[in-house]
Amino acid sequence: GAMRHLPYFCRGEVVKGFGRGSKELGIPTANFSEQVVESFPSDISTGIYYGWACVGNGDVHKMVLSIGWNPFYKNIKKSVETHIIHTFKEDFYGEILSIVITGYIRPEKNFDSLDALISAIQEDIEEAKRQLDLPEHLKLKEDNFFHLPEGKAVNNH
Ligand code: ADP
Ligand code: MG
Repeated sequence: GAMRHLPYFCRGEVVKGFGRGSKELGIPTANFSEQVVESFPSDISTGIYYGWACVGNGDVHKMVLSIGWNPFYKNIKKSVETHIIHTFKEDFYGEILSIVITGYIRPEKNFDSLDALISAIQEDIEEAKRQLDLPEHLKLKEDNFFHLPEGKAVNNH
C-alpha cells in the first residue's frame, strides 16, 4: 500500500484546509483539492511520506507529506497535505503545486501531547532531508515533470 505506487507524480491547486493550525505549529501544510485527492490510488496507505515539491514554476524543494483521513468529511475521505521544507515569503493558496512522492516514513499515529506531535514531525523532516540526499531520491528532483508545464511524467517509470 505505501511503496507500490512510488514514485508518485501529482499536480494540483492548493486549497484552504480545515484550519488545524498547522501554521501556528510552524509546520504549514499545503492542502490539495478533494478532486486531486480522489485521483490518488485508493489503496495508497495513509501515513507520512517524503519527496520533492514545486510551487508554480518556482524552485524544487524537499517536502514531507501526510496522507490522512479528512475530518471535514467525517474521516471517510483522505486528505493530502504537503509541508515544503523552505521558508516562503507569502502564502500560495490558488497556485499549482507539483510534487513527486519518492519514499515512505511511517504510518499515522496518535500523540499524547502537542509537544510529542511536533517532535515527531521534526524527526520526519530530518529523516526526509537525509533520504532525499541519496542518489535514488535526488535524481527525481531533476525530473522533467518539474520543468515542463504539461509534464508528461508517468508513474512507475
Ligand atoms: P490550511 O488549513 O489552510 O491548509 P495551514 O496552516 O496548513 O492552513 O497553512 C497552509 C498554507 O500555508 C499553504 O496553503 C500555503 O499557502 C502556506 N505556506 C507557507 N509556507 C509553506 C510551506 N513551507 N509549506 C506548505 N505551505 C506553506
Ligand atoms: Mg494545511
